[in-house]
Amino acid sequence: MEQKQTINFGAGPAKLPQSVLLQAQKEFLSYSGMGISVLEMSHRSADFNNILTKTESLLRELLTIPDNYKVLFLQGGGSGQFSAVPLNLIGLKEDTCADYLVTGTWSEKAAKEAEKYGKVNIVHPKLDSYTKIPDPSSWTLNPSASYVYYCCNETVHGVEYNFTPETNGVTLVSDMSSNFLSRPVDVSKFGLIFAGAQKNVGCAGVTVVIVREDLLGHALNDCPIVLNYKVQADMNSLYNTPPCFSIYIMGLVLEWIKNNGGSAAMEALNKQKSSMIYDIINASNGFYECPVDETCRSRMNVPFHIGSKEGDEGLEKEFLAGASKRGMISLKGHRSVGGIRASLYNAVTLEDAEALGTYMKVFMKEH
Ligand code: PLP
Repeated sequence: MEQKQTINFGAGPAKLPQSVLLQAQKEFLSYSGMGISVLEMSHRSADFNNILTKTESLLRELLTIPDNYKVLFLQGGGSGQFSAVPLNLIGLKEDTCADYLVTGTWSEKAAKEAEKYGKVNIVHPKLDSYTKIPDPSSWTLNPSASYVYYCCNETVHGVEYNFTPETNGVTLVSDMSSNFLSRPVDVSKFGLIFAGAQKNVGCAGVTVVIVREDLLGHALNDCPIVLNYKVQADMNSLYNTPPCFSIYIMGLVLEWIKNNGGSAAMEALNKQKSSMIYDIINASNGFYECPVDETCRSRMNVPFHIGSKEGDEGLEKEFLAGASKRGMISLKGHRSVGGIRASLYNAVTLEDAEALGTYMKVFMKEH
């Protein structure tokens, strides 16, 4: 049966580059002529060690990670890191407190989890809707905080930082799960960056943690050993069985990013794709409404409503059904906010975004 073309705009797990899937398929039964699959390989074998080393060195190269940072490949997802970050870092200073910049669902969840382990200061007044990033001049940062935490791209609300917060020397921690390697990042400005792989750099199962060495060894006594950064760093992420296959897939994706121009090229492409969709929204005279302030609209996740600010349910249903007929899937907004959300991660091509743009124009004309 001929397969119809599908364009996946899902928020994650998300589209992978076709060439990566084909290579994984080719090597699936016998990796590198070994006669076994990566799925069957011991994590202590020399061959898996090569995969791990290659993946780490690609990441170091793509992000120019300084030598005084460790790279960890952990399980537990982004949510695991909501616990691991305070468990490892909130005790860095005597006051066991941390500043959280809450700008959407994911930073809100992270702050809530951190409250179990220390004092959490929400840096700015509670926002009634997650559609903007309060001006940094209005933030009250605590100089005694062990760290300042923020989510660089809020996947549900489509709010993305286009600047790195200034913390006056306090350790900066960022959740980059949904915009990791979508643009260059100066790692040296951060104490820690983490990212689940399943949006921009692979499949579910592995979470990358990039952590400055001097932050290791300060975990609370209660920190579970698998979440202890120092233990994992000392064991090269092999304290226990790592997510081997997910690390292998990440290696293939990183190679694809490198062969396609690296993070700067990804940024140029992501700018082009997202501005095309935002331009259509802006020019639609309110037919399409994006609730997010123009200064912090995400290049990765474009949320919008149709028909009115709150969205016309009938029109949105019709839009999704029409998209599905054209092979465009996973455009439904997150259940907590409704509407439409187009996720335009690295593997989504310009042609994919153009197909969506064309459909948006046609749909508007017809209604
Ligand atoms: N952080 C961000 C920005 C996310 O988008 C998500 C999930 O979508 C998470 C954290 C949680 O990740 P996980 O489901 O891997 O725990």
